[in-house]
Order: sequence, then structure tokens, then C-alpha cells
Amino acid sequence: MTKRLRRAPPADLSGQATGTRLVHAGRGPGFADGVVNPPVWRASTMLFDSCADLEAGNAAPDGGLYYGRRGSPTQWALEDALTALEPGAGGTKLFPSGVAAITTALLAVVKTGDEVLITDSAYEPTRLFANDILRRMGVTTRYFDPQLGAGIAALIRPETSAILLESPGSLTFEIQDIPEITAVARARGVVTLIDNTWATPLRLQPLALGCDISIQALTKYVGGHSDLMMGSATATPALLSRLKAATYRLGHIVSPDDAALALRGLRTLQVRLDRQEASALAIARWLEGHDAVDRVLHPALPAHPGHALWQRDFTGSSGLFGFVLKRGTRQQLGMLLDDLDHFGIGFSWGGFESLALPVKMDGCRSVTSLDFSGPIVRLSIGLEDPADLIADLAAGLARYEALF
Ligand SMILES: *Cc1c(COP(=O)(O)O)cnc(C)c1O
Repeated sequence: MTKRLRRAPPADLSGQATGTRLVHAGRGPGFADGVVNPPVWRASTMLFDSCADLEAGNAAPDGGLYYGRRGSPTQWALEDALTALEPGAGGTKLFPSGVAAITTALLAVVKTGDEVLITDSAYEPTRLFANDILRRMGVTTRYFDPQLGAGIAALIRPETSAILLESPGSLTFEIQDIPEITAVARARGVVTLIDNTWATPLRLQPLALGCDISIQALTKYVGGHSDLMMGSATATPALLSRLKAATYRLGHIVSPDDAALALRGLRTLQVRLDRQEASALAIARWLEGHDAVDRVLHPALPAHPGHALWQRDFTGSSGLFGFVLKRGTRQQLGMLLDDLDHFGIGFSWGGFESLALPVKMDGCRSVTSLDFSGPIVRLSIGLEDPADLIADLAAGLARYEALF
């Protein structure tokens, strides 16, 4: 009889410091006997020894190898590693993109006739999903001011089933009062989800602050090398079965090759993030003192309106922030960005290389108005020497200022 691989409960790493945990997480017995990393298990079909063995598999399809769509040790190792980073987590599911993680987590907790409340600062594809697919399912969406805190209570109706947070918010970096909102939600029986891509579980642990599902675009910091698309959703034990059911029914699975890449990225997440955080802060402070800059959108700066909340709830920051120029228009940003030597112009972020993006706010706000003096630039700070990045930006800003 072949020895069938079972999925053993992961070791409890909760007493370990983050760096140590990042090394040990997901390396449970059976996933990688005798080698450091789990092999890439490419498999659709798992063979059963007998009809009785197949019946036993049917009874517990998540208990071990069953069928490719339920994953193999490569994906399980990544799921367990991500679960180990979130105190209060029951388990994690993986998705082919961050957007698929957000949409599936939402579908897991809504039904026709429900309403969801979404922060007005949410990632634009999240809004597009709600405004199109959820709407056609008969689920309405109301957007709320990201800064409303316990005021969320006044918005909750009997049909409200979920609240989606994102902190800091996409493009404009507002910080939300997560414990205030989750306390109201819990009391009213409403599920809270959060897009935690900016902070990662290393800088914010949302389940410990009362959220029910914590979502990441692993495409960004966990992947870390701009060569991977993936998402994850980590749920409390109470929500995990709903998340799992939605994931299986919608047919999501990630390739074992991609899971291995994400695991590789995860091992170095802390050292990359520490360096990117420090460089980003140095650059943000330098920009704050520059004549061409109206304000810097970075919650770790004391001048940021969400700084006190950020300091209370987060254990650090990451490498993504924005700045607002005093003058000019988005159309003129080419003068600043086109000839930068160390910043690529492009979407996504969290990789080892720096990126700059001319921010486009059209269609990104429903209930809050923005009054920026000039255009917004978003920077993703990579692993380059920060002095080189500052010199590059200084030259770009001088080119830009020469326009006026
Ligand atoms: C990029 C991003 C996502 C989506 O991730 P994809 O892997 O590109 O689908 C979700 N949320 C935020 C905040 C993001 O920046």
C-alpha cells in the first residue's frame, strides 16, 4: 500500500519572533522530507489504492492528497506559512491574483438582497467588482468615508452583511480606525474584511484587531520580485469554512510553481520590508521639505492626518507612498517621471526595484471629495541606495519646476 500523504496540523509558531517565524513557517512534517523547501508537486490526479481509500478521501477531501484543485504540499506549505503570520487565523486560501482573493472573499459572505459597505479609498478593481458583478447579483454597495470610525454604526442596516476596509487606502493613504469599525461590526453581526496588501501581516495584524478576513495581493511584497501574480485570504476559524467553500466552488487554485516562488519571497519579506521602509521614510521626509511638493501622503509622517491611528495599530510601514505637487497637471508629469534613471513607470509595486506612477483618481471616489493642489505621484521604493533615488527625484523635480 502506498503511504498517502496527510495534511498534518501546522506547528504552533506563535511564541517565535517574526524573523524566526518567517524561516520556519510552512515547513511542517511531510511537506519537505529531507530538503529545505517543499518540492514543486505538479499534479492534477492523485491515485487512490482502492475504492475504500477513495471513499475515505471523499469524506475528508482537505485531509490529504485528493485532487489537484485541492492543492498539494507546495500550496499547503504557503497557506500554512501565511496562516502562521496572522494571530487569530484559522487558515488561508490562495488565489491566482489579489483581485481574485478580494472578489472570492466577498462572494463568500454575501447573498442576494444584502448590502456591503466599502471604504471610499478601496482599490479601484474592488470597486469595479462591486459596482458590476455584485450589483448584478442583487447585492448593493454603499461607499463610506475612510475616516469615519465608529460613525460606521449609523450606516449599518439590517441587510448589511459585510464591511470592506483598506488601510492605508489606495492612492491617497488614509488610515482607518480598524478597532472602532470592527467593534461595531461584531456587535451587529456584520463580517469585516480588509485588504492588507500595503502593510502585510508584518506591519498590521488585522484579525487581532477584530477583522474576520485579511486579504493580501501576494503579487506585491510577498512575491517581492515583480514576477508573480497571486492573492491570499486568511480567515478566522469561524469564517474559514465559508471562505473555503467559495474558493472551491469558484474553482480557484494556484500553480505549484507560483506557490514555490511566493514561498521563496516570503522567506526574505522582513529584510526587504525593513530596508524599503527605511528608504521610503528617508525619501518621504526629503520630499516633505522640497519646495515643489505640497504634501506627502505617508502615514508614518507626523503631519499625516492618520498618523496617530497608524502609530497605535501598525508596527511599521512599507515602501509605498505618494506625494502631491503644488503646481501643474497630471499631463505634465512626464517632465518629472519620463527621464528618471532608477524609477520605472508602471503598475504594481512591492518589488525589489523602484517604481513611479502618475496617479489617476478618475472614478476612484464616490462620497469623499479630494482637493489636491496639483497632481499626485505614487512611489514604490525598492532596494536601491536611497541617496541615488533622492538624487534622481531631485533632478526630476528640477525639470518639472522649470515648466512654471
Ligand atoms: C495590486 C493590488 C491588489 C490586486 O492584486 P493583483 O494581484 O494585481 O490582482 C489589491 N489590492 C491592492 C491594494 C493592490 O495594490
